[in-house]
This record gives sequence, structure tokens and C-alpha cells, in this order.
Amino acid sequence: MSYVDLHCHSTASDGSLSPREVVKLAKASGVSAMALTDHDTIAGNREAAEAAAELGIDFITGIEISCEWRSPGNMHLLGYGVDPDSEVLADLSRQLIEGRNNRNPRIVQKLNELGVAVTMEEWEQEAGGNVLGRPHLAAILVRKGYVSSIKHAFDKYLGQGGLAYFDKERLPPRQALEMIHESGGISVLAHPVQLRCDNDSELRTTIKNLVDMGLQGIEVMHSDHDDDLVARYSEMADEYGLLKTGGSDFHGHSKKHIQFGWSRGRRVPREFFDQLQQKITALSE
Ligand SMILES: [Zn+2]
Ligand SMILES: [Zn+2]
Repeated sequence: MSYVDLHCHSTASDGSLSPREVVKLAKASGVSAMALTDHDTIAGNREAAEAAAELGIDFITGIEISCEWRSPGNMHLLGYGVDPDSEVLADLSRQLIEGRNNRNPRIVQKLNELGVAVTMEEWEQEAGGNVLGRPHLAAILVRKGYVSSIKHAFDKYLGQGGLAYFDKERLPPRQALEMIHESGGISVLAHPVQLRCDNDSELRTTIKNLVDMGLQGIEVMHSDHDDDLVARYSEMADEYGLLKTGGSDFHGHSKKHIQFGWSRGRRVPREFFDQLQQKITALSE
């Protein structure tokens, strides 16, 4: 049997390994194909594609776009096979990163008001030239002894509902879908469980609306999906004629419980990759 991983992050967003290191890990973990899906940026795809070609791993470009959605809950849309030089997506990243750059000083200011001594300079230093992520800030808080662990930092201060939490810039789902399609990609709803729908009918309505806007697939296998959810999302994918995808959502050190190439003790079958690739190829012909 051959396996794949179609959902992972690098230092281009909030992962702890460089795109090349993620591909090396993919090779070591025994998958035959992968996609890199950094949050709101295609920046790591060139490097990853090069490394994948060198190491003999099949590769699809990717992105994971954060969309507007009610709280509590997350709506993330994956774009596969997008043009790594897409102007539309490069603009999107710039726009969202700018929004976040406005958010970061507010987080620091709030922490200062709460008696936590931390500065933007320290955060920048910790990020080492990468996009500033909350895991970087969490690491500083642990080091300075304000919290006992990264998890504690998120629970108390930085996570949704935390004392210094500010929502980040997000895109309306319709706009995210249009951007993915415009840049030659296939759109997939990531980890539906994170929508935190109250019941089946809300989930169905949400998926139906996205399908009407052009959604093409559902991520059925994910580290947050137990067997029941995998079965339920697979059924829905069949019902709406959508592609099925799956992956680990590997981030590296910041989410240690997630292992590359595995989604909650399961392996993602190669056919998910093949079907996705067929659809991407059909689009470009
Ligand atoms: Zn996600
Ligand atoms: Zn992800």
C-alpha cells in the first residue's frame, strides 16, 4: 500500500520546519506523495516542490485560507494545485499579513497591561525573520516563567477566549473559493469538525452553500477526526459528488501530538492524491 499526506505546514506559516525539512520528513515517513498547505501563503511551495523532485516524492502545491466564520469555530479552505506564482494569492498573503501586523502590537500592548513584560522586538527576534506567529510569543512567555507550557500560554493568553486574544484577518468564503479557482486550484473544505456545527443540518447547510459557490472537495481524514467522523464526512462527500482528501495537519514542535503522515492513527490512501491530481490535470487541459 502507498500512503500520502495532503495537509501540513512549514515555516512559511506557523510550522517549525522549513519547506525542505518537511519534504525530508515526508520521505523519512514513507509517504509517496504530499501537498504543502501553509496558512494564507504559497511562499513555501517552490522550495518544497524542488525538494520533492530531488527526493522522488510526488508533490501538489497548496494553501490553507482562513475564512470568516462565527465563533466558536474555524472555517479553513484548502486550495490544491494552485499556481505557485499566482499574483492573486500573493496579494492575498500581503493583505492578510498586513492585517496581522496590525494585530500583533495590540496583543503585546494587552499583555503589557496584564503585567506581562514582552516587546515586539523580542517577538521579532524569536521569529527569526519568519512571519510572527503566536507560538513564537508563547515560547517567550514560557521562557520568562509567566506560563508553564506553550499550551498554558494559549489557554491563558493567546488562544481563542484568552486574555490577550485578537481575531485575525479573514476572508469571506466566497472570495477564498474564487481566489483558489482563479489561480488554477481545486477547493477543499478543511477539517469540517472545526466548524463546530451544532448539528447535522447546520453542517449540511454549510456544505451545500459552499458547494453552490464552487467547493470541490472535503477533507475527510484529519488528526481531529475519529472513525465516526471520517465515515460521516465520506458519506457527505459522496452525496455531494465531492473529492475526498486527508492529511495530518502537521506543524512540527508547536503541535507535538501530530505526526507527519498520520491522521489519528490512520494512513491517508494514495487514491486521494491520484484523484486530486487527475482533477487538477483536467483543469489545466
Ligand atoms: Zn486548518
Ligand atoms: Zn492546517
